[in-house]
Amino acid sequence: MTATRVLVLNSGSSSVKYQLLDMRGGARLAVGLVERIGEETSRLVHTPLLGDAGGKRERTAPIADHGAALKAVAEELAADGLGLDSPQLAAIGHRVVHGGLRFTEPTVIDEEVLAEVERLVPLAPLHNPANITGIRTARALRPDLPQVAVFDTAFHTTMPESAARYAIDTETADKHLIRRYGFHGTSHAYVARETARLLGKAPEDVNVIVLHLGNGASASAVAGGRCVDTSMGLTPLEGLVMGTRSGDIDPAVTFHLMRVAGMSTDDIDVLLNKKSGLVGLCGDNDMREIRRRIDAGDERAQLAFDIYIHRLKKYIGAYYAVLGRVDAIAFTAGVGENAAPVREAAVSGLEELGLALDSGLNAERSDGARLVSTPYARVAVAVVPTDEELEIARQTFALVSENALG
Ligand code: ADP
Repeated sequence: MTATRVLVLNSGSSSVKYQLLDMRGGARLAVGLVERIGEETSRLVHTPLLGDAGGKRERTAPIADHGAALKAVAEELAADGLGLDSPQLAAIGHRVVHGGLRFTEPTVIDEEVLAEVERLVPLAPLHNPANITGIRTARALRPDLPQVAVFDTAFHTTMPESAARYAIDTETADKHLIRRYGFHGTSHAYVARETARLLGKAPEDVNVIVLHLGNGASASAVAGGRCVDTSMGLTPLEGLVMGTRSGDIDPAVTFHLMRVAGMSTDDIDVLLNKKSGLVGLCGDNDMREIRRRIDAGDERAQLAFDIYIHRLKKYIGAYYAVLGRVDAIAFTAGVGENAAPVREAAVSGLEELGLALDSGLNAERSDGARLVSTPYARVAVAVVPTDEELEIARQTFALVSENALG
């Protein structure tokens, strides 16, 4: 029997999320999460999804490190007959946050690739080290198995220099690798392609603005399947208003806070990444709670919502201009998929741009990809649930299948 399964690993600093998929039909065989690794309160939640495998299982014993976490995951999978030693496992696909300029495609991992991902740590100090630990742990467990890195930045490497470069001294920028890289690329790639499919067209024939609105949020302009601009930059801080990040801000705010408020670089890093955005504006970063407060007449929540929407609209307008012709705007991730009032407010007043929502369709809840625009609107508005794990599994499987064919 040929190997058709792919294990997808998303390793964070204290967590590992995983999914085992069968690429014959893309079915999920098991999903799970290990959190609070290295703490007394570690937890593993494993859900087998095979026909008669039973419900989710939980372990709460302390898990010391990523090695122990992956061993525990392997045991849970083995208990369902899905062990990592199975000949049906074709590869392990790893989410890697920063691939710099070098990694424009999914890449089979070897020591040289790992060294390069390591060299990029200064650009993603929180994420790349955790991704590397996950990769090393998985390689120790199955050294013979192809392991593939799928980079969050890869989809955005097609951006032209005019969009990717900051207008700062070129020598300084090049010396310190300062440019716009963009993130959430796996999601933007998946959603742009699914949107084309929803429209019944080839990705090459469709221009899409993708709005990935989760706790982190980013927009991208995708022309014929290729990213031509995206809102996150050197780091995920740039662009839209997010759950806890400010998004676009005058960089002089930083110097001002240093000089006037005596804040350190680290203080400002925490302020802009963790204490800004919706949480900074109104104390809540969950859009459900913000909508509840607005319905109860809360003015701070209303202002936070208005600032969030104002920024979103500016990006829709900017990417409209960048693309010239737009076939669809696609909303995805936690807020984009679920918050009908956000979609409604973001496109309201843009009828001149060809945008018109069907408020009935927009208010309907559904797990599937769907159109929420009126039939006569020139630009389709779509809600497309993202699936980064499926995209990582697809890219991983495509690469190892290609390599196997030689
Ligand atoms: P991330 O992957 O960035 O952590 P998600 O894509 O899971 O984020 O999105 C999480 C966010 O989605 C939550 O913070 C919340 O604001 C929003 N969200 C989730 N469900 C709903 C809902 N039913 N209505 C409105 N917002 C929602």
